[in-house]
Amino acid sequence: AVRPGTRHRIATIGGDGIGPEVIQAGVKVLHTLAHTSAGTLDLDFVDFDWGSDLYKRTGRFLPQDGLDTLRQFDAIFFGSVGAPDVPDHISLWGLRLAICQPLQQYANVRPTRLIPGISSPLRSVTAPSHLDWVIIRENSEGEYAGHGGRSHSGHDHEVATEVSVFTRTAVRRIMRHAFATARSRPRKTLTVVTKSNAQRYGLVMWDDVALEVSRDFPDVHMDRMLVDAMTVRMTMHPQSIDTVVATNLHADILSDLAAALAGSIGIAPTANLDPTRANPSMFEPIHGSAFDITGKGTANPVGAFWSAAMMLEWLGEADSSARLMRAIERICHQAIFTPDLGGKCTTDDVTEAVCNELRRK
Ligand code: ATP
Ligand code: MG
Repeated sequence: AVRPGTRHRIATIGGDGIGPEVIQAGVKVLHTLAHTSAGTLDLDFVDFDWGSDLYKRTGRFLPQDGLDTLRQFDAIFFGSVGAPDVPDHISLWGLRLAICQPLQQYANVRPTRLIPGISSPLRSVTAPSHLDWVIIRENSEGEYAGHGGRSHSGHDHEVATEVSVFTRTAVRRIMRHAFATARSRPRKTLTVVTKSNAQRYGLVMWDDVALEVSRDFPDVHMDRMLVDAMTVRMTMHPQSIDTVVATNLHADILSDLAAALAGSIGIAPTANLDPTRANPSMFEPIHGSAFDITGKGTANPVGAFWSAAMMLEWLGEADSSARLMRAIERICHQAIFTPDLGGKCTTDDVTEAVCNELRRK
C-alpha cells in the first residue's frame, strides 16, 4: 500500500501537438496543489521531450534505455503522441504502446461523468446522476496485439490480416479488475461488452471468462451487451449504465463516444494501470494531439487535470485528488471554459482559475 505524505516521483512526457501545452498546465496545477497542501503532498517532476520530433531527428520516439528510466518513477503523466507528417500507426506504436505494453499497464480506465456546468448533447442528461460511468478497456492485446501482415503489398491480390489475440490470462485479469471496480461503486453493476454473435472464438471466450469471474463477485450484477447495441444504450438509456468492460478496440470507440456525451473530448481522463503495481502506471487525457488548435493557447487542460487527479488517487493521495476535482468542478460551475465547451477562455485562463481555487481552499 502507498502511504500518503511520501514523496512521489513523476515522469512527464508532453509528447506532440497540444500534449506539452496541457501537461505543462497540469504540472502547474499539481505544483499549486502541493504548495497549498500544508506539507502533506510532496511531488517531484522530471520532464522528457520524447515524441515525434525526437523520432524525426533520431529514428526513435524514446531513447534505448527509456523504459528503464521510466521504471524508476512512481507514475507517468503523459500528453499525446502523433504528428501530421508521421503516420499515426507509427507514432502510436512508437511511443504510447511502446510504454503501455512492456510496463504491463493492462487496465485502461476511463471515468465519464457529467460535471455540473457542462452540458451534454443528450437532452435526457441534465444531472450528474444521469451519466456516471467507468469504462474499462483491455489494454494489452486483442485487436491491437499487432499480429498480422501484408502479402503482395501493393498488388491487386494483396491480402492484409490484422489478427485479434485473446489469452485467457489477460481476459481474466481485466475481468477481475472490472468486477472489482464495479464492486467499489455504489450501484455494483458491470456491463460486459462483446460482439460474440459475429465472432466465434476470442469474444466467446470473453463471455466464458466473464461468467467464470462473476462467480467470485456474487454481489456485482453483471449484464452482457453486444457493442452495436451498447452505442444505442449509451445514447438512449445512459442512466442504466455504470461500469463497462470491453476489448481494446471496442472500448476505444465507446470511450470516445462517452467523452463526447459528457460534454467534450477535452475534459476526459484516462489511467493506464498496472494493477499489480510492479511498474509505474500512466495517466493521460483521452484526447489526441489536436494539431488544428496546437499553439493557439486554446486547448482545454481539464482532461489533463482530471487525469492528474486520477494519478494522485492511484498514488494514495485521495485527499489531494478530491481537492483537485473540487477545484475543477468549481471552475466548470463558473463556466470558465475554453472554446470546445463554448467559452472564450485560454488554456492559461483555465489553469490560473483552478490554481486560484486551490489557493482559496
Ligand atoms: P488521435 O488520433 O491522437 O486520437 P485525433 O486526431 O483522433 O487524435 P484529437 O487530437 O483528440 O483527435 O482531436 C479531435 C478533435 O477534438 C479536434 O478537432 C481537436 O481540436 C479537438 N480536441 C481534442 N482535444 C482537445 C482539447 N484538449 N481542447 C480542445 N479541443 C480538443
Ligand atoms: Mg482519436
